[in-house]
This record gives sequence, structure tokens and C-alpha cells, in this order.
Amino acid sequence: MALKVLAWSLLYPTFGYTMPSVGTQKCCNAVHQGRVGDVLRPGAEYAAANIRWSVTAMLHPSCIIQPVDTAGVAHTVRILSAAACPFAVKSGGHTPTPGANDINNGITIDFRYINETTLSSDRRSVTLGVGSTWLQAYTQLNDTGVAFPGGRYGLVRVGGLTLGGGLSFFSPKVGWVADNVLNFEVVLASGEVVNASSTNHSHLFRALKGGSSNFGIVTRVKIQTFESTGRLWGGSVAYPCNDNTTEHAKTSQRTITMTKMRR
Ligand SMILES: Cc1cc2nc3c(=O)[nH]c(=O)nc-3n(C[C@H](O)[C@H](O)[C@H](O)COP(=O)(O)OP(=O)(O)OC[C@H]3O[C@@H](n4cnc5c(N)ncnc54)[C@H](O)[C@@H]3O)c2cc1C
Repeated sequence: MALKVLAWSLLYPTFGYTMPSVGTQKCCNAVHQGRVGDVLRPGAEYAAANIRWSVTAMLHPSCIIQPVDTAGVAHTVRILSAAACPFAVKSGGHTPTPGANDINNGITIDFRYINETTLSSDRRSVTLGVGSTWLQAYTQLNDTGVAFPGGRYGLVRVGGLTLGGGLSFFSPKVGWVADNVLNFEVVLASGEVVNASSTNHSHLFRALKGGSSNFGIVTRVKIQTFESTGRLWGGSVAYPCNDNTTEHAKTSQRTITMTKMRR
């Protein structure tokens, strides 16, 4: 035990970490024994997984858990809830606020391996794992003739953007990303897995459309698709501030030059 404490006290200042509490170490061990996925402790893999879009959001969890499926998330939540272990939830890690997606001396759950993209057989919806990047998801649907509203920056992941509302290049056509969600697969604090839709757990369904992370852990989202030619067009409208804006808006919209952005 004394050797272990000595090892931690030497290792942690090296990485700039504080000592993990014995309590959270027990939580990490319990999840490790539950075999839900990788459990990363401080070291090279941990450091790579703990990177955030903004350094302000990078904290120092005792371990990082990477479940591979919904059952693994549910099992993790049951263990963490039963032992009252503090934890944070991260999809793409793009929120810069400290504490939004990482934690000091607790456990961070990282969804990077829950990342599949499945187009329904009638092509009217696509189901995305929350750990998928938007680039992964859009790449899977290339050349299918359907599209769906998703993030505009490839490395943001499905979970945080969708739960926060989500602005898409397709928003002028179909609205917020969350407006187009047909179903959320959610792990509740009890570890129960539910599907929230307009007809099932409808209050939860509504709360998750912009409610972000406070109502459960979402593992999959089903988003409605629309037929698409595969072309996306864009442009900008500039209004002079010292003129009659309404008249200018009408004129500009008539004369806007559309720029082909990408196929
Ligand atoms: C470079 C950049 C480009 C961006 N582009 C866009 C854009 O085009 N459109 C747009 O609308 N926004 C955009 N944003 C904002 C972005 O949507 C938010 O920062 C969003 O929270 C990022 O989601 P994430 O999964 O990457 O982040 P995270 O920080 O991992 O998640 C955000 C929050 O949601 C929670 N959360 C994550 N996953 C889950 C889950 N599965 N279940 C429950 N809670 C969860 C986290 O705990 C955290 O509090 C951009 C941000 C950046 C930095």
C-alpha cells in the first residue's frame, strides 16, 4: 500500500494531477471488474483520451471509462450510482466550460466507441451512436441520396450537439438538429434503458431536445432524413446598417450570389 501511495505521489505531479481519492479508485476498480469496456488510468492512452477542444475543459479524472455499447453504459451507471461515484460524461469534448465534460478525482465516461451509423430500411431515418463524429456519420451516408441535419464541424460528436439543440447547414431547410430527432435511447440514473419518443416517455423526449446532459445518458439518436441531391449551396447576405433594412433585405435576397460549396 505504502509503495502504491509513493508511486501515485511520484506519477501525479509529473502529469500535473492531484492524488485520486481512495473512493474513486474503488469506483474505477468496480467498473474495471464489470468488463464494460476500456478503463484508462493515467498514462499515454489516458492522456490522449483526455484531450478536449479547449484546454480550459481538461481536468484530471481518476480514470476514463470507454463503454462499447448501451449495456456497458447501463452497467457503468448502475455501479457508479450504487457507490455514489462522481462522474462526467463526454461525447466530443467541445464544450470549453470546465466541468461540463470532465472531472477532477472522479470518473469520465467517454463514448467514442459507441459510434455506428445505421440507415433504416425505408431510408426515412438514420440512427447514430452518440460517440460518432459528424464527419463519420456523413461519410457513411455518402452516395445514398438521403441527408439529415447534423453539425457543421466534422470533429464535433453527435451527443453534445444534438442534446444542446444543434445548428446545421440544413437548418434553414429543416430546423434544429434536435427538432428532427425521432427517438433518444437513454440510460436513466437507475441503469434502466428507455426509448424516448413522441409516444413513449414523451416528457423526457421533449426535455432532451435542448436540455443537454441533465436528464439521463443518451446512447443513440434516431434522426429523420430527407431526399438529397448531395449538393449543398451557401452564400452570404450583407445589409448596410444606414439604409432601410427591410427594402435591402428584399433586394439582397433576390440578388444573392449562391456559391457552390461542396458535393
Ligand atoms: C469547433 C466547434 C464547432 C462547432 N460547430 C457547431 C455547429 O456547427 N453547430 C452547433 O450547433 N454547435 C456547434 N458547436 C457547439 C457544439 O455543439 C457544442 O460545444 C456541443 O456541446 C459539442 O458537443 P460534443 O459532444 O462535442 O461536446 P461535449 O462537451 O462532449 O458535450 C457537451 C455537453 O453534453 C453532455 N453530453 C455529451 N454527450 C452526452 C450524452 N451522450 N448523454 C448525455 N449528455 C451528454 C456533456 O456532458 C456536456 O455537458 C461547435 C463547437 C466547436 C468548438
